[in-house]
Amino acid sequence: MSDRSAIEWTEATWNPTTGCDRVSAGCDNCYALSLAKRLKAMGAAKYQEDGDPRTSGPGFGLTTHRGSLDVPRRWRRPRMVFVNSMSDLFHARVPLPFVRDVFAVMAETPRHTYQVLTKRSVRLRRVADRLEWPQNLWMGVSVENAKELSRVDDLRTVPAAVRFLSLEPLLGPLTGLELDGIGWVIVGGESGACHRPMDQDWVVEIRDACRASGVPFFFKQWGGRSPKTGGRDLQGRTWDQLPARGRLAAS
Ligand code: SF4
Repeated sequence: MSDRSAIEWTEATWNPTTGCDRVSAGCDNCYALSLAKRLKAMGAAKYQEDGDPRTSGPGFGLTTHRGSLDVPRRWRRPRMVFVNSMSDLFHARVPLPFVRDVFAVMAETPRHTYQVLTKRSVRLRRVADRLEWPQNLWMGVSVENAKELSRVDDLRTVPAAVRFLSLEPLLGPLTGLELDGIGWVIVGGESGACHRPMDQDWVVEIRDACRASGVPFFFKQWGGRSPKTGGRDLQGRTWDQLPARGRLAAS
């Protein structure tokens, strides 16, 4: 597990599960899948389980780590914690009792704020009423193109304190994005050797929809060969808005 995070909009990462399988176009260049292969080669204990080569890879088999459940309890200082930077908590092979255990740790550590992001919005919607939702949990879905917009509808049904969208890597326009019940939007382009370009018009349309609806907008990066290649200015300024409950991260 990691303490300090390189993700711009969070402060620490916590991986009670590792590994995953690709589900949609946004997964094509999954950073976690590549990193897991390197971590396996380095002998990292959490990355020794191989996944299905058609959808996953070396060291990226879905694995639950009961021993990692305690990690946030040991962090005394309040943190913004990104849950499962190396997995998807709502993957079909994460047993519901384990998801409940993760939620229980969040509830027992109200000094932290947790961000959970999934592409498995159908399972999220189906199990939501069998979970106890702590007030310090922000629940988000990733959406990369218009084909996946139903994930936003699934998220809207969930009783999370903050519901947010990660539109990254943004691969196409999201015309008609409906922001009712959404409390935060993050947009980012893809980075890495095989990055796919992001059109400025797609980003401006989303930003303007956020402004019209009063939803905080965070523009992470344009993307390119490295995350910093294209910078993060949009029409001459940066956009670092956070939900009202996000003041902790900004301070
Ligand atoms: S859902 Fe996320 S972690 Fe899983 S393969 Fe796709 S991008 Fe990677």
